Amino acid sequence: MTTRIDQFSAPAPGGPDSVNTWLVGDDEEVIVIDPGSDAAGVLGAVGDREVLAVICTHGHATHVAAALDVAERDEAPVALHPRDRNLWHEAHPDEPADIEMEDGGVFEVADVQLEVIHAPGHSPGSVCLYCEDLGAVFTGHVLLAEGPAAQDGEFPDFAGQVNAIGESLLTLPPETRVLPGHGPETTIGAAGKNFDSWVAAGPAHGD
Ligand SMILES: [Zn+2]
Ligand SMILES: [Zn+2]
Repeated sequence: MTTRIDQFSAPAPGGPDSVNTWLVGDDEEVIVIDPGSDAAGVLGAVGDREVLAVICTHGHATHVAAALDVAERDEAPVALHPRDRNLWHEAHPDEPADIEMEDGGVFEVADVQLEVIHAPGHSPGSVCLYCEDLGAVFTGHVLLAEGPAAQDGEFPDFAGQVNAIGESLLTLPPETRVLPGHGPETTIGAAGKNFDSWVAAGPAHGD
């Protein structure tokens, strides 16, 4: 298998909140997950490979700001869950996303598949992308190595978010790599060991 996962993280101006952009593909084609804000940087990481799609794990502006610019070069579609449409339009008032993702949807790139897991809580339309072939799940803001991700220090729906983690992520194989929207990666197994403490800490624990 020649398909691989590359990471691009732009240096964040004025803070540590750099978005992890993930590229899944081979030497010919790639899917971009969470383009962040630095379109030129992402396209530099893509190089001369064709962008098949730009997938947004959710609609928060720092994750989708560069989506249209990254997609434009190869006329690729941008994929978003429709329940995050309002968040998306805060960053892109005049342009819709092209693909409405739904739970169980599948993207194909090189010789692997990415399965859409709807995991609402952080935002109504948060999704994770599971790549069984590569043993990895891209978790956006649903789950970081340190636990469920807050937004500006708050959890809009903490119960929903931890339910989604418990039901849709911790049921994946324990060796699965968790590749989040910020910070270092972890595994499903490691997250499972910490899950009870995250639930006990509750939503007041946001960063
Ligand atoms: Zn973020
Ligand atoms: Zn977010």
